[in-house]
Amino acid sequence: LNRRLEQINSRLIILTGHPEEVIPRVCRNHDVDRVVFHEEEATEEKLCEMKLRDNLTPRGVAVNSYYGATLFHPGDVPFEIENIPDVFTAFRKKCEKHVQIRPLFPEPETLPPLPGSLSQTEFELPGETFFGFSPQSPSEKSVLPFKGGEQAGKERLHHYFWDKDLLKKYKETRNGMLGADYSSKFSPWLALGCLSPRFIYSEVKRYESGRVRNQSTYWLIFELIWRDYFHFISLKYGSKLFHASGIKGKEYKWSRNNDHFRIWAEGKTGIPLIDANMRELNQSGFMSNRGRQNVACFLAKNLNIDWRLGASYFESLLIDYDVCSNWGNWAYNSGVGNDPRDRYFNIVGQAKRYDPDGDYIRYWLPELEKVSDEFIHEPHRMNVETQKSCGVEIGHTYPFPVINLEESYREILKRGA
Ligand code: FAD
Repeated sequence: LNRRLEQINSRLIILTGHPEEVIPRVCRNHDVDRVVFHEEEATEEKLCEMKLRDNLTPRGVAVNSYYGATLFHPGDVPFEIENIPDVFTAFRKKCEKHVQIRPLFPEPETLPPLPGSLSQTEFELPGETFFGFSPQSPSEKSVLPFKGGEQAGKERLHHYFWDKDLLKKYKETRNGMLGADYSSKFSPWLALGCLSPRFIYSEVKRYESGRVRNQSTYWLIFELIWRDYFHFISLKYGSKLFHASGIKGKEYKWSRNNDHFRIWAEGKTGIPLIDANMRELNQSGFMSNRGRQNVACFLAKNLNIDWRLGASYFESLLIDYDVCSNWGNWAYNSGVGNDPRDRYFNIVGQAKRYDPDGDYIRYWLPELEKVSDEFIHEPHRMNVETQKSCGVEIGHTYPFPVINLEESYREILKRGA
């Protein structure tokens, strides 16, 4: 970002602290008379924006804020925020019918220079240790190296749409779990503002007129509308999104079994689909959508653990962490959000459907590498001899299942979840 800003006569300045304190200080010290920012949707961010305005306006500093995070501009959606439908399809259909997606702004060719006093101040880019993290190198097993910045985000889009022509079959591949190209992997760049949904939309339209327009090209936009939806739901419900009872106000009796939570988080449940996905998250900061749905459902429904522990754990690790998408999807999969049907998954059924040959399991659980296709999704079913023949000892080199899945499904039905 700094490189791009320098090309157009400006530069990036990084300050650390609470924005509502730091920004007014900069304004005071450098005679700044206008502050412009992009609005966010979740409660803590909204509170921060409010305090910032309160601290700036009385000092005569003008404040302008804009929305740039969503495909549909909040000013264009055919609902008052408090009337955003609680069912996605109702939201999507009406927006698709009535909202014209705004065109992209042209990129500025130049920006006014920073005030003299600011441009001379040295600001250092804080490294990861500044924030209390120990330095980490990205896992080589990650679906992508995930380089930050707009340039890298655009290169990924170019690869996915134009070089490899993958968009035309996105709808058939998007439920995969293994590899770089089953889905777009745009989420980290979207979450960090390096790619905008409107830019992606405009590229889909260009692809549709230059290459092909089909269900897959539409489906990528459909998924971006899901993303929008959780952003609007967050605006509508504010802090309710973080309540145990969620936006539905459903009072389940959640368990706080720390051992079960730890086993889930470490990827040691003895249920390969769950473990492989959690190990991918732990080692790379990414997990497929199919994986996320299954591990969330398993924690909240099969283990009956307070879903917010899972959402917080994801928050601490995801490289594409987005408050609205994370908490909205967690609530949805835990039965306290926007799913009108409140479903649960048959975990082994999902594993057999989306990883039929067990390649994904073997990739992230090398201890099961030699297990045959027959047992790869339920290795505890192997007898001792079969275990020996593939170098596995259930209960020793790979755990017994932490719970009996069949019993847990009966419990879910009993609880009425
Ligand atoms: P693609 O399939 O290529 O989709 C394209 C884009 O559409 C994504 O980049 C994303 O921006 C959007 N999208 C797709 N599915 C969803 C969805 N269900 N909800 C919202 N947006 C969607 N996504 C995040 O960006 N940040 C999160 O913190 C996050 N947490 C999640 C937690 C749970 C429990 C679940 C079930 C889903 C979560 N998702 C989150 C949504 C989804 O899993 C990821 O956006 C997706 O896996 C990212 O991969 P992709 O870019 O290749 O997706």
